[in-house]
Amino acid sequence: MIDTRILEITAELDGAENIVIVPHRGPDGDAIGSSLGLYHFLKDKGHQVQVIAPNDYPHFLKWLPGNDSVMIYEQEKAKADELISQADIIFTLDFNHLSRCGDMELPLTEVDAVFVMIDHHQEPADYAAYTYSDSEMSSTCEMVYNFINKLRANKNITPEIATCLYAGIMTDTGSFRFSSTSSDTHRAIADLIDKGAKNAEIHNNIFDTNSQDKMRLLGTALSNLKVNSEFRTAYITLSQEELDRHHFQKGDTEGFVNYGLSLEGIIFAVIFIEKENEDLVKISFRSKGDFDVNKFARAHFNGGGHINAAGGRSDLSLNDTVVKFNRLLPEYREKLSK
Ligand code: 5GP
Ligand code: MN
Repeated sequence: MIDTRILEITAELDGAENIVIVPHRGPDGDAIGSSLGLYHFLKDKGHQVQVIAPNDYPHFLKWLPGNDSVMIYEQEKAKADELISQADIIFTLDFNHLSRCGDMELPLTEVDAVFVMIDHHQEPADYAAYTYSDSEMSSTCEMVYNFINKLRANKNITPEIATCLYAGIMTDTGSFRFSSTSSDTHRAIADLIDKGAKNAEIHNNIFDTNSQDKMRLLGTALSNLKVNSEFRTAYITLSQEELDRHHFQKGDTEGFVNYGLSLEGIIFAVIFIEKENEDLVKISFRSKGDFDVNKFARAHFNGGGHINAAGGRSDLSLNDTVVKFNRLLPEYREKLSK
């Protein structure tokens, strides 16, 4: 659909002065990378562009070029609301439903702007005038790369754009190892390196800037790991007390869930993280093969995502959430047992 309407989008862009870019709440590397990649591209074209993130994000993303220009909605509501109300075009990146941007949902539903969605989650909502949605894509960053190419602007990809898009493709593909990584993904990455993305530096900035507290929290998480071989499932819990003990900072638990999947024979891995101040348990689900964690998260934990990576939440206590989870597994015996 994006291909047949690219001329319309080009015309919309030509007539637009103010553009706002919105990633999802709890932005990850793909959300911030795609937002900043598109930010540089549109700014270089001469637009007034503002990235507004619903809330703050981990420090391992804050070195990305353009990071200092990002506005955090939770911290600057009045100013952000004004920018949203003045926007001619609003790009929403890396999410499929406006409820995924928290408190920004309301101002976004009220504004009279042209919405463009670029996203790779299943079941996109119908709020955008232009929807570029493809759940087969590795990442929203790969889609922004495609979007720029569709606008015939590949030559305008600067080292800054290349760096942002490389970072998001890398984080969303688990460093190019998930099954969503296609030969096209690698061709995009190769081109981004040619355009100035310094791959070793980007990996270093994202993965090798851990604090000692984070490493010790990982130690606690791994010692809490429980394995249920019958259902090829492994899960980790982290209580608020454990997070506090290790001076938890945003992003410190990123990637922990994947350790469960690295166990031989395990195809379903989960992490339950107690968030006392939000009065909920945040859950991440990961799987291998055709066990659909998006469906699982939607059905039982008020969440969603992709077939092999999803998130959700529970209003029960940490303990009761785990009990509920363990009781559900037999329902999925057919898929989970060997
Ligand atoms: P993570 O476990 O890393 O937070 O999220 C994994 C995937 O699931 C990401 O694509 C993320 O956007 C999606 N996801 C995480 N939490 C939720 C949620 O509460 N609702 C929905 N619909 N998707 C989520
Ligand atoms: Mn993504």
